Amino acid sequence: MERPGYYGRFGGMFIPEILVATLQELQAAFEAVKRDPSFWKMYQSLMATYSCRPTPLTYSENLTRHFNAPHFYIKREDLNHTGAHKLNNVMGQGLVVQRMGKRRVIAETGAGQHGVATATMAAKFGFECMIYMGEVDVARQRPNVFWMEQLGATVVPVKDGSRTLKDAINEALRDWATNMDTTHYVLGTVCGPHPFPEMVAYFQSIIGKEAKAQILSEVGRLPSRVYACVGGGSNALGIFQGFLYDSEVELVGVEAAGEGLKSGKHASRLASEDASVGVAQGYKTYFLQDDDGQMRETHSVAAGLDYIGVSPILAAYHEEGRVRFEAATNDEVLEATRLTMKKEGIIPALESAHALACTFREASQMSSDDVILVNLSGRGDKDIFTIADALGDESWKRFIGKKAEAYSA
Ligand SMILES: *Cc1c(COP(=O)(O)O)cnc(C)c1O
Repeated sequence: MERPGYYGRFGGMFIPEILVATLQELQAAFEAVKRDPSFWKMYQSLMATYSCRPTPLTYSENLTRHFNAPHFYIKREDLNHTGAHKLNNVMGQGLVVQRMGKRRVIAETGAGQHGVATATMAAKFGFECMIYMGEVDVARQRPNVFWMEQLGATVVPVKDGSRTLKDAINEALRDWATNMDTTHYVLGTVCGPHPFPEMVAYFQSIIGKEAKAQILSEVGRLPSRVYACVGGGSNALGIFQGFLYDSEVELVGVEAAGEGLKSGKHASRLASEDASVGVAQGYKTYFLQDDDGQMRETHSVAAGLDYIGVSPILAAYHEEGRVRFEAATNDEVLEATRLTMKKEGIIPALESAHALACTFREASQMSSDDVILVNLSGRGDKDIFTIADALGDESWKRFIGKKAEAYSA
């Protein structure tokens, strides 16, 4: 890293003048946390007693037999509290907020998963909590909005622009600039201005630390490949950090190919040729943008991967060749979801099924000596409407139609 907050030519801190002092304050608090030997222990113990950590490592015998190679091991972030890896980051930031003496947290959310995680953390720590969400997303994600409110958060529907995630981000930044003395902005992934990418990666590294110890104790050697899906990149960086310096371990990040990379309807920044380097939302990375720098529409069956940017840390590993990037289509993802449910009795989140789909596609290149590790970033319960709809079950469709009507009423 040449300059702090830079990863190769990516990252940085591109923010309005008014927020500089706040980000410096956050950086100082985070540096203090990293230097404090008791902090990580306290964080681990909080996650052990509140969030089911360490999450298990599951040997997937049936998938292994089905493909006749390699040995599949699955890291079970679906069993983490609130159903995904997101809480690892959010609880860590909660501890930092407590140290800074702030009492109010804000966040923006698209699909609502990060909003629910943040509202959960705020309830646990006794913080005031406000969640910004595009008006369109509020209507689409009624169940998550309901839970955020029950957990004590105020959900603010944002009526500007396209009334989706990017408008919610703008509104949250406006709030932060006005209330920075009392308020912390809980960023949900390894993106945004410095120090967020580094700080979120630090908390998510708990996945890779656990997974490495677990696979060494269970198998006695390192995996040949580690697979993870990539939206912003936090679950991927979380598990990859356990193996970054083991050059014999290949790291594979799997993005959303949506309806196919050639269709233009996808959210693949690093595995496609469609993204270019730019600065937006406070940092420099590959964005899916047009020639004028206008952000393009992205598309994926998995809401959590449907994002225009990608972690500057992953962009740098992409350029260095340390991480290989692939993409899986909606169809491959649904097939992988079906197979994982039938063979292993696990309902993967559609995001996580991208990582599975890629391992299934590549299984035939591997031998029965190979051990692979897949990060299952979350559980699929939240995807019930999408999965039932895609599988075309008519009776389910009628039932879901009624439910969906009730939710959006
Ligand atoms: C939010 C989410 C993702 C995408 O976020 P990353 O920062 O790329 O990890 C992936 N899987 C699940 C289950 C999620 O909820």
